[in-house]
Amino acid sequence: MINTHWHFDHSDGNEWLHSIGAEIIAHENTRKHLSEVQRVEDWDYNFLPQPKGAIPTEVFAKEHRLELSGSSIGLRHYGPAHTDSDISVTFAEANVLHVGDTFWNGVYPFIDHSTGGNIDGMIAACDANIAAATNDTIIIPGHGKPVSNKAELTEFRDMLVAIRENVAKLKAQGRSRDETVVAKPTAAYDAKFGNFVIDPGFFTRLVYETV
Ligand SMILES: [Zn+2]
Repeated sequence: MINTHWHFDHSDGNEWLHSIGAEIIAHENTRKHLSEVQRVEDWDYNFLPQPKGAIPTEVFAKEHRLELSGSSIGLRHYGPAHTDSDISVTFAEANVLHVGDTFWNGVYPFIDHSTGGNIDGMIAACDANIAAATNDTIIIPGHGKPVSNKAELTEFRDMLVAIRENVAKLKAQGRSRDETVVAKPTAAYDAKFGNFVIDPGFFTRLVYETV
């Protein structure tokens, strides 16, 4: 089993699957975060250390390769993006790219600055994913419509870039976080991207924190 990052909605099956024989492979920061108390400020929540059976059994720092039933699987760390533990998973022969929570298809994403995420890293991860994909690549996001492609990913990246610029301008003018939310820097994108758990105000606050 591969964890794309440490968040509970992507790792809560660890102990169960490990108990029936699965090895758990992840970035080294995923193991660190699952082993210690994690405070996520934006959820106002402390995640407790996971039991031993839920901790990744094999970790890596930058890249890792696996062979499984004749398929080659490439794992690659993004650097800080949605968290500091995000990896991509490439199924080469099938031309499938799983990008974890660096891509929320058609909705505003969460960015977890409490464990190392930031907006510029999210944009850099999207650029890396776009560079790694062809027009035929099946791209699997962490949230949103579950099967995607390069065109939808590019639309998501362009949204991140535009909102980052808007928020950076308002912050540079000396506006507080609340004043920046009131200025609605996401307005042009809300009808399309603002209809999931991360609403326009929440997303503006997340970008403001790390821009
Ligand atoms: Zn996540």
